[in-house]
Amino acid sequence: MTKNNSKLGEFSFIEKITENFEIKNSESLLGIGDDSAMIESSKLNTLVSKDLLVEGIHFDLSYTPLMHLGYKSVIVNLSDIYAMNGIPKQIVVGIAISNRFKVDSIQELYKGIKLACEKYMIDLVGGDTTTSQSGLTISITVLGQVKKERVVKRSGAKKNDLIVVTGDLGAAYLGLQILKREKEIFLDNPDVQPKLEGYDYILQRQLKPEAPKKYFEILNEIGIIPTSMIDISDGLSSELLHISKSSKVSVKIYEDKIPIDYSVMNKATELNLNPIFCALNGGEDYELLFTIDQKEYSKLEKDPDFTIIGHITDKSEGNFFITNDNQAHELTAQGWDSLKSS
Ligand code: ADP
Ligand code: MG
Repeated sequence: MTKNNSKLGEFSFIEKITENFEIKNSESLLGIGDDSAMIESSKLNTLVSKDLLVEGIHFDLSYTPLMHLGYKSVIVNLSDIYAMNGIPKQIVVGIAISNRFKVDSIQELYKGIKLACEKYMIDLVGGDTTTSQSGLTISITVLGQVKKERVVKRSGAKKNDLIVVTGDLGAAYLGLQILKREKEIFLDNPDVQPKLEGYDYILQRQLKPEAPKKYFEILNEIGIIPTSMIDISDGLSSELLHISKSSKVSVKIYEDKIPIDYSVMNKATELNLNPIFCALNGGEDYELLFTIDQKEYSKLEKDPDFTIIGHITDKSEGNFFITNDNQAHELTAQGWDSLKSS
């Protein structure tokens, strides 16, 4: 710890925010309290990933409760490990805090971190704490494990593979639009209370997302190792383009196949947004996008958790989004380019 401006001494501050965290995995040999954590190595491969969240860029504390923020900052990291078909085990948490934050607020943040650690069986094994001139920054590194023959990269998709997504898309983005709308109304007139009733699902998807552990487990149970996989953090189209680029193939997806919750349909209309646009570009859904060999189809066809949205084509064909009126539009990171129809 360096230059913490809290009234508490350095040690008691870290002790206070990290008290009650228990080690759950036997491989976590040494956790918080020494110069470094120690993790037992095994025959499995170690996966490492980091996400950096900066106030004002990635989150807005005027509508994000700190406990939710703590929870979500862990989830976004776990999601990356599941997307490699691995199991997350440990996290290391770095925070930079300005003097506007009281110890209580950071304890709230850590309550959320703890909830996520308990739900997903993750050990918090260390971190670092420092001051910032303004705002809050949270940087989490996650460590996970995978058997080397089970790892799934972005680069393995083959021509004729089916493209699958888990859950439903677009809700987290819509939740964010509602929060932004209510913030604007509040800034214009602080006497108006935010109207958040009726938006439960989309708000929960934005403020308290879950990692795709359930889908990872189902895939294991039914014996499917995807040919390629990625988590949907930036939006379906952008992730599809990552798979296309890494795997040197093209993708073709169909508008009528995109899984969208009925509440997303309703609320998008209310906000004058196209629900398909939200699903393609929204991001932060933390669902899995993966490809499977066609012969695996029967293993997941009856499970509503999984939706086949299209298939992989030869690289030379280009990436396309087929609308309900059977028009092919080139898929771009912004969704689809309706001017470039072919
Ligand atoms: P050092 O000076 O060696 O970096 P610190 O005083 O920063 O040690 O940290 C003491 C212990 O507390 C270490 O085990 C470190 O990993 C842990 N730690 C420090 N800050 C955090 C934090 N924000 N969250 C979790 N653990 C932390
Ligand atoms: Mg330190």
